[in-house]
Amino acid sequence: ATTEMPGTESEALATLHRVFGYEAFRGEQGEVIEHVVAGGDAVVLMPTGGGKSLCYQIPSLVRPGTGVVVSPLIALMQDQVDALRALGVRAGFMNSTQDFDERRTVEAEFLAGELDLLYLAPERLRLDTTLNLLSRGKIAVFAIDEAHCVSQWGHDFRPDYLALSLLGERWPDVPRIALTATATHATHQEITQRLRMPTARHFVASFDRPNIQYRIVPKADPKKQLLSFLREEHAGDAGIVYCLSRNSVDKTAEFLSRNGIEAVPYHAGLDAGTRAAHQSRFLREEGLVVCATIAFGMGIDKPDVRFVAHLDLPKSIEGYYQETGRGGRDGLPSTAWMAYGLNDVIQQRKMIQSSEGDEAFRRRAAAHLESMLALCETVQCRRGQLLAYFGQEPDPKGCGNCDTCLVPPETWDGTVAAQKVLSTVVRLQRERGQKFGAVQIVDILMGKRSAKVIQFDHDQLSVFGIGDDLSEGEWRGVIRQLLAQGLLAVEGDYGTLVLTDSSGEVLRREREVPLRKEPKKPVTARTSGSS
Ligand code: ADP
Ligand code: ZN
Repeated sequence: ATTEMPGTESEALATLHRVFGYEAFRGEQGEVIEHVVAGGDAVVLMPTGGGKSLCYQIPSLVRPGTGVVVSPLIALMQDQVDALRALGVRAGFMNSTQDFDERRTVEAEFLAGELDLLYLAPERLRLDTTLNLLSRGKIAVFAIDEAHCVSQWGHDFRPDYLALSLLGERWPDVPRIALTATATHATHQEITQRLRMPTARHFVASFDRPNIQYRIVPKADPKKQLLSFLREEHAGDAGIVYCLSRNSVDKTAEFLSRNGIEAVPYHAGLDAGTRAAHQSRFLREEGLVVCATIAFGMGIDKPDVRFVAHLDLPKSIEGYYQETGRGGRDGLPSTAWMAYGLNDVIQQRKMIQSSEGDEAFRRRAAAHLESMLALCETVQCRRGQLLAYFGQEPDPKGCGNCDTCLVPPETWDGTVAAQKVLSTVVRLQRERGQKFGAVQIVDILMGKRSAKVIQFDHDQLSVFGIGDDLSEGEWRGVIRQLLAQGLLAVEGDYGTLVLTDSSGEVLRREREVPLRKEPKKPVTARTSGSS
């Protein structure tokens, strides 16, 4: 950085123009930078793509000394440093991919005051040799990127991040800025505590992406539903279709191609060459669809992605928000569309149960799934739920740009239907000592004499045929919502249905069960009048 006095915003702004070639600060960038340049600590929450990097890069350039950036993303360091050097910024990094000579060069540059920015992996910063090195040079600011890694309850926990609390003790006069894109309110608190930044100012950028229209439809024939969604609303548009398995990625890409929509697959099972080719086609071409597992998307900055579709349920709201957030970066309308059904719930519950993680991991995964299910089953504004999840105050009037705002879903009193499902599960278990999955329960309720019903004499049960008032789809909807509400649970590898602690309240009529009516007419972009 320069040897000028720590400056005003205008100096920061001048740096923005001169070094980065941008017109103006975005959102809260200006305020954050001003605060840090003046020597204050900051905790910054901004969604991906919000422009976090400038929040520490500019203070590093404006304040005397080197900005030290702690980042867990070793693989990206070389690229980040190269990009900065291309702008004339004196940047370097130190991590395990370097040989001795390279590291010595960077150390010498730092000590000579010839570095504006130094990127470090957290495990390196802990080392005494690194701390001693830093003590011998001048530091402009400490930036702690991906600060949510300090949270033991997050999925990205890095023990090395805990050691970062010592920075404040050792360098009390150097401002610190912690940045993250994924923090909820709880994580936010944890960052402040664990990094010992009690006096830090907090900057929380809005997580709202108003140009994204959120829609979640009941899954019937997902590939066909996807096809008509694309044909009716996104013909010729670039977009991403997320699927859970590699196999369904391949099949979906094939299906779309066969039906006249140019689509390519992307997943970790393809060789690196194919993956790179498909990714660069997606970035270059105008209207290509990529069918992908969640392996696709990290670091992809394509502004005109017009839709993000999910054929399977994401594991958490964080995941859903991040994946859908890849749409509409140019600020133009885009659609986040998802098909969601009973099997998604059963499959994810099974996956959590059979996972190799410990009890705490499973509890966490289950909590993430619950929040995701609540978003799917809500009768209120989806955007409002998303924002509330990230600790932001939603608009009580609704957003007007999600399916539940556009066509408010009807609810109905599903108490009796719920009792029918639950008593069927009880009868099977009590009278026969049997557990079955959703298909068999629905067949029994509807009085269907399927081969499996006959085989097990289930047409002899007193509950056989008590549910001929609803269709098969409606029954599956009831079971799905009971699972989502925690009134029914999934057990074992076969996805058999069992009661929960709360089921009794419904059976004893102590609790009502409001259910969401499955919409007859799907919401389309036309309903919203936006196109
Ligand atoms: P984040 O780290 O929050 O995901 P980045 O710092 O990578 O986001 O910024 C995302 C993109 O926005 C980058 O291409 C960056 O150059 C651009 N950007 C950031 N701030 C500005 C600005 N003030 N004006 C124009 N473009 C900006
Ligand atoms: Zn809404």
